Amino acid sequence: MQSQVASARATGVAVRFEGVTKRFSSANGSYTAVDDVTFDVPQGSFTTVVGPSGCGKSTLLNMTAGLTPCSAGSIEVFSEPLSGINRRAAYIFQQDALLPWKTVAGNVRLGLSLRGVDADEVRERSDEWLRRVGLSEFADCYPFQLSGGMRKRAAIAQSWIVDPDIMLMDEPFGALDVQTRRLMQAELLRVWSAARKTVVFVTHDLEEAIALADEVVVMSAGPASTVVGRYPVRLSRPRDLLDIRTDPGFVELYGSIWATLRDEVLRSYASGGTD
Ligand code: ADP
Repeated sequence: MQSQVASARATGVAVRFEGVTKRFSSANGSYTAVDDVTFDVPQGSFTTVVGPSGCGKSTLLNMTAGLTPCSAGSIEVFSEPLSGINRRAAYIFQQDALLPWKTVAGNVRLGLSLRGVDADEVRERSDEWLRRVGLSEFADCYPFQLSGGMRKRAAIAQSWIVDPDIMLMDEPFGALDVQTRRLMQAELLRVWSAARKTVVFVTHDLEEAIALADEVVVMSAGPASTVVGRYPVRLSRPRDLLDIRTDPGFVELYGSIWATLRDEVLRSYASGGTD
């Protein structure tokens, strides 16, 4: 059922990675971080990318954001070759980008104000987003007055308010405690299912990757990290993220993916590549 919903939603390809390779030059020569990565991210889908720490997940996301170019291969965004900054995408990092001197509302409004959107519309849309992420009562607070989970909710509103077609998320909940993290994952899925944006979400946490995704993409240990597995997640939506980990379908899929990921994590550990 869920896969039918997902495929109905996925009417095209939002991001196409074709032989994407990234080499960094160093004093000792060249280091290939990502090598020959090829896969499609369907429009409106939620794709998670997992792999051992240091394998190149952030590098792949940085290339998708257009922050750094591919050394070889190409990235297409809605069928257009990506060159320079990816204007169709917004990026959420582990460290949020809230400005400490602006209130929550000021931070949420920032993207629209910078785009010159009419002040009344900015207020209306930011009120709506603050409500959606449950922060209406905290609109006049400053980021330091918020808990970690509230900051994440503010960061989600700040990014999604500008209505990007693609949301790139790099371990956004990595710094949160387990309970807050699960609540935030549920919050994110709620926002995603209402907004129907394409999400590419990087994490080293396999449980998180499965719980959120339509498809989990597994990357190998570096150097020259590449895609070693792609796993569709056929768990029904909406998902109860607080209990999904005991769902037999979840447990089975976890076992299959872990069989692949485990080898990569051990390889990465043996080569000293993990953090
Ligand atoms: P992950 O996100 O999977 O933890 P990264 O994408 O951050 O991994 O890093 C992949 C590899 O590329 C690592 O070995 C890292 O040291 C290297 N790397 C990342 N960015 C740079 C850079 N700007 N210059 C040189 N090496 C880099």
